[in-house]
Amino acid sequence: MKFGTKTIHAGVEPDPSTGAIMTPIFQTSTYIQRSPGDHKGYEYSRTHNPTRTALQNNLAALENGKHGLCFSSGLGAIDAIIKLLNPGDEVISTNDLYGGSYRIFTKVFERYGIKFHFISMEEPKNIEKYINENTKLIWAETPTNPMMNIIDIEEIGKVAKKHKLLFGVDNTFATPFLQNPLDLGADLVMHSVTKYLGGHSDVVMGAIVVNDDQLAEQLAFIQNACGATPGPQDCFLVLRGIKTLHLRMERHCQNGKAIAEFLKTQEKVDKVYWPGFEDHPNHDIAKKQMRDFGGMISFTLKGNKIEDANKILENLHYFSLAESLGGVESLCGHPASMTHASIPKEEREKVGLVDSLIRLSVGIEDVEDLKEDLAGALAKLS
Ligand SMILES: *Cc1c(COP(=O)(O)O)cnc(C)c1O
Repeated sequence: MKFGTKTIHAGVEPDPSTGAIMTPIFQTSTYIQRSPGDHKGYEYSRTHNPTRTALQNNLAALENGKHGLCFSSGLGAIDAIIKLLNPGDEVISTNDLYGGSYRIFTKVFERYGIKFHFISMEEPKNIEKYINENTKLIWAETPTNPMMNIIDIEEIGKVAKKHKLLFGVDNTFATPFLQNPLDLGADLVMHSVTKYLGGHSDVVMGAIVVNDDQLAEQLAFIQNACGATPGPQDCFLVLRGIKTLHLRMERHCQNGKAIAEFLKTQEKVDKVYWPGFEDHPNHDIAKKQMRDFGGMISFTLKGNKIEDANKILENLHYFSLAESLGGVESLCGHPASMTHASIPKEEREKVGLVDSLIRLSVGIEDVEDLKEDLAGALAKLS
């Protein structure tokens, strides 16, 4: 089955009792047993729910994996992955990372005796310096948020294999439409389903997809034992959203390219970060592992003044100032004071996340309106 058919059909069966083409919302907490243990595979909805099962199977198919697991948020999914580890274990993570991931690693799991090394992974050989007998997991995000760095998944997969480490990739920015980390050597792929997969800014959810049966069993145990599971309404909304994932992503990529190129011609704009530019430092890797370059763009302003960034954010109309990304509507954000405020300033600036950096999630509106909006806001700068 090709990607654009999987989005609509994979994991989804017409309802056997009525023929309903859409997966019903099984709004139930429990299931009747004829005698103790005599049931149809469903006992309690924290453990299993048919709407969630359909979504989990659909997500597994999209990532070319065997097992999908849904969580009540992306961070709920990350929480489950780190709970595979024990006190004393070490994790090597990308340094240019979603702020909430940095926060759960340092503020929650460090207290439980897990150690995190935040490093640049653009040079995969760099990783080996940090590997010791306690290292258990390599954690990567690519493209990174918000700097749009590209990390070579296949090369890191080789390092992980050589040292028998688990390798997880946060694939939220790329989506399975653009990149499939399991095919490139990752053991776990994680999504904030809240973003492109849901796609309509109306659900918070997370997911993990794996191939290994034992790993899936451990994660399913944590999913049920810790209980961060999504409800059936949310699973239904995401199943519905995913049906147009391929169409939305095509337009996100098309609009993203047009906006990145437009920003590059603007006199008040300093740097534009988008992996589709030939002069992006890892453009070749992006071309190798991604099918297109996506709709996420960051840019900085000449003079690097926070007041200028604020003025732009206040004067954009179609780009709404909000956290999050990946919805049909365009959003803009100020990572230094919003999504990445929990990262210390010195850490931020080391990776180029300066005060005037603005992040755009380019939506699927008419691109001419989006360009006009940006031009208008830039014109407000003196
Ligand atoms: C939003 C996001 C998360 C966290 O997901 P939630 O659904 O908000 O919990 C993790 N990683 C990335 C890259 C994200 O953008």
